[in-house]
Amino acid sequence: MSKLSPVLGLVRGRTPGQLIIQITDRCNATCPQCSMRVSNNFSRSSLSFKKCRDIIDRAAKNGVQALSITGGEPLLYLDDVCELMAYARSAGIQYTRTGTNGYFLRNPDKPGFIDHVKRSVEKLANAGIRNFWISIDSAVPSVHESMRGFDGVIKGIEKALPIFHQAGLYPTANMGINRNLGGLNNNIFTSTHVPATPGEEQDYVACVEEGLRSFFSLVANLGFTIVNFCYPMSVDTDEKGLEAVYPASSVESVIRFSKKEKSLLFKALLNTVPQYRSALRIFSPLSSLYTLLQVYNGKEMAPFPCRGGINYFFINASDGQTYPCGYRGMDNLGSYRQGISTTVPKAFCTRCDWECFRDPSELFGPIVHGFREPLSLLKKYKRDATYYRLWRDDLRYYKRCDFFNGNRAFDLKRLETYSPPAH
Ligand code: SF4
Ligand code: SF4
Repeated sequence: MSKLSPVLGLVRGRTPGQLIIQITDRCNATCPQCSMRVSNNFSRSSLSFKKCRDIIDRAAKNGVQALSITGGEPLLYLDDVCELMAYARSAGIQYTRTGTNGYFLRNPDKPGFIDHVKRSVEKLANAGIRNFWISIDSAVPSVHESMRGFDGVIKGIEKALPIFHQAGLYPTANMGINRNLGGLNNNIFTSTHVPATPGEEQDYVACVEEGLRSFFSLVANLGFTIVNFCYPMSVDTDEKGLEAVYPASSVESVIRFSKKEKSLLFKALLNTVPQYRSALRIFSPLSSLYTLLQVYNGKEMAPFPCRGGINYFFINASDGQTYPCGYRGMDNLGSYRQGISTTVPKAFCTRCDWECFRDPSELFGPIVHGFREPLSLLKKYKRDATYYRLWRDDLRYYKRCDFFNGNRAFDLKRLETYSPPAH
């Protein structure tokens, strides 16, 4: 692929392609927010190394630039994952990403812990993985550990992060937003009562903000330098006509939020994230948070269409088939290796908030739109200048963050002078 290809792609309305391979739906954690937890009884599957490698070959030919290997718990297949990631890099896929629920960081006081961690980290670093996430569910260590079912894992993460850094890998703290974010005493947020008065709404936002502040402080103290949020995926499937491809969501109240709560949640994120941008590399784009806030507030705001099914795809572990994303189970696009079906219309879709696809779609949206429909972009800009102010700020901030290159050391000096935009 020539160096001009990504630019030509943007002119033609295509952002760099992204592929998520769910290598397995096996997992050893107990997370209440996810139906793949170990206690759930269903027939589990994994994709073979060869199948994944063939998919990567095809992805590289298709010009895919970003590859994620997810699970279940991907590191149950540590050697395969590392080999596949290295293979993808050598095939020209630059942005490689995988992660863990942290199970191999349990028992930090056991003899041999450091050596055992060093061996795994060395494999991950040698594979040239660009971004590596470690999930953190709560600002309160004991709450996180009881959700995951991993005693002592927070101390293990703290001990392991310097080893990662030494090997040139700067992991991301990945928070899937849930009601235990600020701990179990964060009452307004942990309760499922939907705020009904302006006073209750204000208290709710303040409560989430407090939880977020504690979370940022925990992850910074542990030694993380990159943070990402996954937005709640309690999709009203009936209403939106969606059908989850894989069991990543749950019916448990810990992860289910009403529309009103989501609007307050996005408000709290939009207020809090900018305050910590000068201390941590926080991926969640303000332009996305702002768009979601407007949408949940019922304001007229057309988000940029999601690239899911256009040039972002998801490969499911249980049937090995390709889907536009993890939430359009009714749109089976067939085998990625053999060439996916083109019969499913490349629809304008904004039916869920899956950050893996929605955040980059929102970030690339103005660029793609600018090349294809400059006038309509101008109109959009005039209607909502705040969005564009936040979007420009996102790009400037991303540059300061080396575009979240998890192989680059944290340069706090470049972030310290960042000042949040008005919105
Ligand atoms: S959230 Fe991740 S670690 Fe937790 S049960 Fe689901 S797949 Fe496993
Ligand atoms: S918005 Fe994107 S991720 Fe969500 S259902 Fe539509 S294509 Fe899938």
